[in-house]
Amino acid sequence: MATPREAPYVWVTWITKLLSADSHCLWAAWFRAHNQYEKIPSDFDQARYSSEHGAMVQECADALTAEGRGVYIEDQNAFRLEGKNGATLGGKPGIVAISREGGLKVIDCKTGKPRSSDQFQVLVYMLVLPHTHFACKERTPEGELRYRSGQVLSIPAAKIDDKVRKQFRDMMERVSGDPPARKVPSPGECRYCDIPKSECPERVEAAAPPTRAGHDLF
Ligand code: SF4
Repeated sequence: MATPREAPYVWVTWITKLLSADSHCLWAAWFRAHNQYEKIPSDFDQARYSSEHGAMVQECADALTAEGRGVYIEDQNAFRLEGKNGATLGGKPGIVAISREGGLKVIDCKTGKPRSSDQFQVLVYMLVLPHTHFACKERTPEGELRYRSGQVLSIPAAKIDDKVRKQFRDMMERVSGDPPARKVPSPGECRYCDIPKSECPERVEAAAPPTRAGHDLF
């Protein structure tokens, strides 16, 4: 049985896949924002992921320190930013780095394949850090994604424009507001969702139905 939260709380990755349209079930984020619940156990190897990700962050931080940058990692960058409607956004950017000249950069290290939601995650960090991180002091940092494959993707501070601000604000309003958001059950999304059927009766537990031969479409 879910327990309603005292005030809406949103973890940053609950909205980044929605912002990038990699996911479409807004209700999942809305439900998490408003409730605490017993999650469906996952077979995802969290310990291995944390170890690999932590090693990547340390390696990257060491390289940046060797370049003479000031470096803050993980919990040093954690934020809880409360909005006007009382909802709180939480997140933990991997690395914030400051060059000798004062240039600011937020870097997210990814152990998996590139996804468009990765860029939205960094864009949200770039929006929030000027309001939460003492080193940023109301300045928008540059963004960067580093993948284990060696791929590096830069996200200039100029990407934070009115369109991105509106997308973010609208999404926060939809998932933290009172009216339940749109529910979009599908085999592809429900399969990876940790909300049990007892909370979401529309949950799709069967695989996608098999396609049939016998048509003349192609
Ligand atoms: S189980 Fe499916 S329909 Fe229900 S919240 Fe999760 S993704 Fe949405």
